[in-house]
Amino acid sequence: MNNSKHELENGHFGQFGGQFVPETLMVALNEVEDVFNRYFHTPEFQKELNKYYIDYVGRPTALYFAERLTEHINGPKIYLKREDLAHTGAHKINNTVGQILLAKKMGKKRIIAETGAGQHGVATATVAALAGLECVVYMGEEDMSRQAINVFRMRLLGAKVIPVTSGSKTLKDAMSEALRDWVTNVRNTHYILGTVGGPHPYPVLVREFQRVIGREAKKQIIEKEGKLPDILVACVGGGSNSIGLFYDFMDNKEIRKIGVEAGGLGIETGKHAARFATGKIGVFQGAKSYLLQDDAGQINLTHSVSAGLDYAGVGPQHSLFYDNKDVEYTYATDDETLHAFKLLSQLEGIIPALESAHAVAEVIKNGASWGKDKVVIINISGRGDKDIDQARKFLPELEG
Ligand SMILES: *Cc1c(COP(=O)(O)O)cnc(C)c1O
Repeated sequence: MNNSKHELENGHFGQFGGQFVPETLMVALNEVEDVFNRYFHTPEFQKELNKYYIDYVGRPTALYFAERLTEHINGPKIYLKREDLAHTGAHKINNTVGQILLAKKMGKKRIIAETGAGQHGVATATVAALAGLECVVYMGEEDMSRQAINVFRMRLLGAKVIPVTSGSKTLKDAMSEALRDWVTNVRNTHYILGTVGGPHPYPVLVREFQRVIGREAKKQIIEKEGKLPDILVACVGGGSNSIGLFYDFMDNKEIRKIGVEAGGLGIETGKHAARFATGKIGVFQGAKSYLLQDDAGQINLTHSVSAGLDYAGVGPQHSLFYDNKDVEYTYATDDETLHAFKLLSQLEGIIPALESAHAVAEVIKNGASWGKDKVVIINISGRGDKDIDQARKFLPELEG
């Protein structure tokens, strides 16, 4: 692991991160950290993980030269890292497949998870089926009705989906509920958290399982272009697909890394999830990080056309990247995102997830100014099939 200033000290990334949890959870967090430290770097574990990445997830995912998009933008050469081609349709499976191996090492019989759009819930239900373990997924009632197909997918995979009716009935409430379950059932249960957020060790653990994205992309771009890329672009919800792409390029300071948050209806409306544009530092769901909160410290309601970016917090290591200016954070609005969603579909025959379309939107907006001699990689974190219902509402011109 790299030991630069990005790296962790005592569960913190600079002033961010930590383990702000009830004492009863410390035992569980320590157990996860111990098993990770003991096994992750061993050749046996890496071999087993790699076997699942190849045979089950379908890795390496393609790095695709988007020729028509490149022509359209008339700027840099654009490549797409195709996480949409991974099993279950997004990068989430890279993490869940890794964590299920840890759960088995710990001898846990029961898996719990939180989910927003349902993508992480589906990826968790999938690996629980693979391992033959009981699976319970907490999901906000509001999200369950917005993402009914994914609820059915989880049930089909054998998971129990529990509606969360507290708070705004969305992702943050589901995560609170999952943490509550874990406190009660620590002995037989492993909590598969879905992003690089929450208490230590999750921000490290999930990052290490997602780094495969950037590791592959680095090798693939050198094969195709004979050099490293100039710019990397990825959407930022909790921050796992972006850190997965960026991390193996962190020592290459000359490479620009752009993280795109959800601009929702516009920053001025307050209806967005752009934590770095307007957020303040605080403690939320186990870690210190930038987050959207009001003056009394209450968590703000967020808004985005994409459920996967609709979250008030962000992974703590991103907060350090932000303060150190190692990554540039910007946002795309719902309108810019829907335009990108349609454009990528029609220029390349690739329907991206609405989350990923935020990253595409940034390149559409600013790519022309970056210069034709540049090479860009956009992380297509997932495919858009899950978003078709949502898109039908917002793109009525396609309804004929
Ligand atoms: C969950 C999700 C995201 C957002 O999560 P990160 O942890 O920021 O990657 C982005 N894209 C897709 C397709 C997702 O399912």
